[in-house]
Amino acid sequence: MALVTTEAIVLRSYNLAEADRIVVCLTRGAGLVRAVARGARRMKSRFGAALEPFSFINLVFYEKENRELVTISQADILKSNFDLASQPEAAQVLAYIAELVGDFAPPHEANDKLYRMVKASVEALATSSDTSNQVMRYFEVWLLRLAGLFPELETCAECNSHFRDDESIYLDADARTRCHKCGGRFGTVLSAATRRAVIATKKVGPLEFADVADKLSAKDQTQFAEFTHRLLVRALERRPRTAIALAH
Ligand SMILES: [Zn+2]
Repeated sequence: MALVTTEAIVLRSYNLAEADRIVVCLTRGAGLVRAVARGARRMKSRFGAALEPFSFINLVFYEKENRELVTISQADILKSNFDLASQPEAAQVLAYIAELVGDFAPPHEANDKLYRMVKASVEALATSSDTSNQVMRYFEVWLLRLAGLFPELETCAECNSHFRDDESIYLDADARTRCHKCGGRFGTVLSAATRRAVIATKKVGPLEFADVADKLSAKDQTQFAEFTHRLLVRALERRPRTAIALAH
């Protein structure tokens, strides 16, 4: 039995039997972890509010070989995001993030980039909840990119020409990029402005990205949302259950 100490983000928690809770966490050191908190529902639980969704915590757990479910030994709050989780719109975005992280992150596989990206996205929502649509886009792009499922929008997959800054591009059914000449009006179009905003995700954090994406026209914002939604549906082979991906 190994004792693991790691920083973690609580994604969801639900009741188990009379007094326990199951907590799904994205941990920095051990990836996606399902953990049982014994006695967490008793009045004087030593876990307190540490297991509320979207708390940033320091988590200590016991890991048994060949057992997926781990047992929490200790959980201390580093930052409670309780205020955020109590705002309906933000709570919905958080539920969406939790769902997709649960779908994309393989269990017990540490991914520091994913951890930092999810944490930065939740922090951005906590700083400014009216950026929620843009933070969602940022999260989606990076989730797909880290999974190797995001097309780089720099060159045409057909003729290899580098896209000009002011060029609209096309995506075929397999999400391969095409220049105007090769795409020939078929597939999904991405305007030059949308493409520049997508590329900006590579260089900036979620809040700075929100500033960039806010300047897009309503049409381009819809195009962006439809683009990431399409890639997500393609990756999951179904629509996300938390149905807010296209909301504005
Ligand atoms: Zn081309």
